Amino acid sequence: MKYILALDQGTTSSRAIVFDRAGAIIALAQQEFVQYFPQSGWVEHDAEDIWQSQLAVLRQAVRESGIAAKDIAAIGISNQRETTLVWDRRTGAPICRAIVWQDRRTADHCARLKAAGVEAIVTSKTGLLLDPYFSATKLAWILDHVPGARARAEAGELAFGTVDSWLIWRLSGGGQHLTDASNASRTLLYNIDEGRWDDELLRILDVPASLLPRVVDSSGTVAYTGPHVFDVPVPIAGIAGDQQAALFGQACHAPGMVKNTYGTGCFMLMHTGSHAVRSRHRLLSTVAWQRDGQREYALEGSVFVGGAVVQWLRDGLGIIEAAADVEALATSVADNGGVYFVPAFTGLGAPHWVAEARGAIIGLSRGSTAAHIARAAVESIAFQTADLIDAMQADSAIRLAELRVDGGAAKNNALMQFQADLLGVPVVRPKIIETTALGAAFLAGLAVGYWQDIGEISGQWQEDRRFEPALSGERVAALRDAWQRAVSAVKRTVE
Ligand code: ADP
Repeated sequence: MKYILALDQGTTSSRAIVFDRAGAIIALAQQEFVQYFPQSGWVEHDAEDIWQSQLAVLRQAVRESGIAAKDIAAIGISNQRETTLVWDRRTGAPICRAIVWQDRRTADHCARLKAAGVEAIVTSKTGLLLDPYFSATKLAWILDHVPGARARAEAGELAFGTVDSWLIWRLSGGGQHLTDASNASRTLLYNIDEGRWDDELLRILDVPASLLPRVVDSSGTVAYTGPHVFDVPVPIAGIAGDQQAALFGQACHAPGMVKNTYGTGCFMLMHTGSHAVRSRHRLLSTVAWQRDGQREYALEGSVFVGGAVVQWLRDGLGIIEAAADVEALATSVADNGGVYFVPAFTGLGAPHWVAEARGAIIGLSRGSTAAHIARAAVESIAFQTADLIDAMQADSAIRLAELRVDGGAAKNNALMQFQADLLGVPVVRPKIIETTALGAAFLAGLAVGYWQDIGEISGQWQEDRRFEPALSGERVAALRDAWQRAVSAVKRTVE
């Protein structure tokens, strides 16, 4: 009996999961690591922490599952995306801390590039926006601020990578400098239609080509572990950014299939097939994965404040003790009583894009209670998701058939039911909600023939619960209209 080992390198913790052929979890190990906030808006990780925590959980998961290295058919990697690392090719030593995707230090650089009028060309080639979120301006920052870095980069002494590249470098014992197309598509340097690093983008973003990893398939044996990891070489055969891995793990393999992850924020991806769809709503187009040299694409949108609104009810307002308590409180009233909560704590994201906006609770009356506010908060997660889905459907001209869900807040049955009601399509929650790790495992297992084909994987995806829409169209229209009016009111406060 063989197994697949998935490494899920996240923003706050590293995880390792051993899966069997049925996609069941045999062992799971997790370790958090330190977050560095050296200045307002800056977020850093120590690259050694990332590696050491990942190696520790890899060892722990294998030990706890009682299997030997020779029982591992392949390793799949999913990773926090965009986070930027630079290391010395000769020694393997990082030249500075990793700059994390959340880090905003390059906002001025992005603003200068926009003022220079290059956003349209960057967007047309990468499917992204000129935002500090993505890797390239972080990389340029490192080259310009770490003494001697730019000269060393130009001399070919340094390597750039996202977290997948870094882990593969270390797992393989150095020298394997690779990334997959899904991670490459988050750098601002990769032409997603042509599937290659783009000279014009490298020029615009001032990045020497000598730094870049080779781009490989998301599913395929690309390297082997060295003797410092296991006593036998184990193939590294699956790589994808975390959200794309989750799309694969949710078996969203066909155009029009959508998954939404309800975590702190919500991350929604729609598979759009073999061509990148360009958004008219400032959603992102991105590589979903590449198999046998063929890329598939996704549209991506995110809600900044998803489950975080429930954290605010707990920590800011103090009306619940634990996040899970929100369901009972919100369902203790028959409806929202006319209360709408626009949780624009950090501005309004897609499809509105009003950065200066801030949150509001609207429609309060003498009869309003904590329960109505809790209900409005939970409903806001579903309203925001519905707005994003409308934008995706408009961009892709694809109609949603069902929504596959995961993430911590997807445990909330009332929220999932309301989501189905608003969308008018079923919301489906799978049995295995470790979809990110599962996606990486699937990509790796397919590459080594552990699983035969996509059909076998799709057949393994199992439903935990399906929420069917139950509200009348009229009622839904009235609710969404009231929500839109609340959003418009919030926008007006900053106009
Ligand atoms: P992340 O990966 O972003 O840390 P998780 O997937 O672990 O997030 O989900 C945690 C989020 O889900 C928190 O924001 C929490 O407030 C929210 N959450 C957890 N349980 C519930 C629930 N029953 N109802 C609504 N939100 C919840």
